[in-house]
Amino acid sequence: MKDATLALHYGYDKDTQKSMQVPIYMTTAYEYEDTDHAARLFNLEEEGNIYTRIGNPTTRVFEKRIAVLERGIDAIATSSGMAAIFYSLAALVRSGDNIVISSKLYGGSITLSTQTLKQFGISAKYFDPTKPEELRELIDEKTKAVLFESIANPALTVADFEGIVKVANEKGVITICDNTMATPYGVKPIELGVDIVVHSASKYIVGNGSAIAGCIIEAPFAKEKLKTNRYSHFNEPDESYHGLVYTKKFENPFIAKARLAMLRDFGAVLSPFNAWLLILGLETLHLRIERHSNSALKIAKFLQTHKKVKKVNYPFLESDDNYAMAKKYLKYAGGILSFELESYEEAKEFIKNLKIFSLVTNIADSKSLATHPASTTHQQLSKEELINAGVPEGLIRLSIGLEDVDDLIQDLKEAFEKIS
Ligand SMILES: *Cc1c(COP(=O)(O)O)cnc(C)c1O
Repeated sequence: MKDATLALHYGYDKDTQKSMQVPIYMTTAYEYEDTDHAARLFNLEEEGNIYTRIGNPTTRVFEKRIAVLERGIDAIATSSGMAAIFYSLAALVRSGDNIVISSKLYGGSITLSTQTLKQFGISAKYFDPTKPEELRELIDEKTKAVLFESIANPALTVADFEGIVKVANEKGVITICDNTMATPYGVKPIELGVDIVVHSASKYIVGNGSAIAGCIIEAPFAKEKLKTNRYSHFNEPDESYHGLVYTKKFENPFIAKARLAMLRDFGAVLSPFNAWLLILGLETLHLRIERHSNSALKIAKFLQTHKKVKKVNYPFLESDDNYAMAKKYLKYAGGILSFELESYEEAKEFIKNLKIFSLVTNIADSKSLATHPASTTHQQLSKEELINAGVPEGLIRLSIGLEDVDDLIQDLKEAFEKIS
């Protein structure tokens, strides 16, 4: 079956009520048949519902659907994208280890990797996601993960997947790709050899800015790396789980550990209600991502022709630095683009003039959003630091929604005209 069909049907067996929509199992716990049954569940001899922190039937449908759309063998949902990224790293590292991260990452992923994990004895080193040969020097025997984004938020850099996977595979290090911006319809990292995919499902997956959520997906071949000495804790008895050895017991050792250790002990579990919102989101994701992408390209081309605009960044513009990589890897580039005006003041005034676009520091809503990084997310940086971070002071980021694209272009035109 093709993706659009899987997104609507996969992983749901109608129960006795024959409910067409997946029911919301809004429950904390589940009754056992008897104490033997309970003991078998707790000893992982039998699969079943125990407690919603480690599994829920509504959430399970979402997990199965996102896993199949990303071509993984299994997935877990988490209460946010940041929880998904933290768990995927925490499952791999021990104190004294290091990770190699893309220099073009979501801000939260950078602070997590370079500041918060440092407090647990984990260090981070940067690589340029368009220069994967840098990984050769950076990966050492203590490196446990290479983390990058398919399309970086907010820099819009498209990763050199083949190059990154090639070096990481030679070294036997797990690759983690944050596929939030591209979605499985833009690119499927697992098909390109990536071991673990993570999402902030708060963005295009839920699709309308209604819930915070995340997920982790495991590739069928991730186990090969996890079986090696580099990941000894996947191959030694886990004392916190009756001496369980993840790579012996499971075909999906990564998700098993993420669920049985990370979710069990850190507990950032998704609400079944939010899982249901994500199921609704997946039903239409294929339609929405096409519209977001087509409208964004049309708007990027309009902006290129405007005399007040110094530069437009969108991976599918032929003039863009990322065009070659975008052509090679992406089916859709999504709805996020950025452009540069002459000055800080001009950018501020332009945003004030917008009527349909809202000033919001989020992306991938069904409604169009605009942000001025220099006065918000990157406010603390000097003029020079802003330029180094690829965020000149006149830069505006747009997240193109699902409104009629002609109305959006008209809104932008009028906002330009009103600049004094
Ligand atoms: C928003 C975002 C995150 C963080 O996700 P939350 O759901 O807000 O926790 C991580 N990565 C990328 C690329 C994002 O855009």
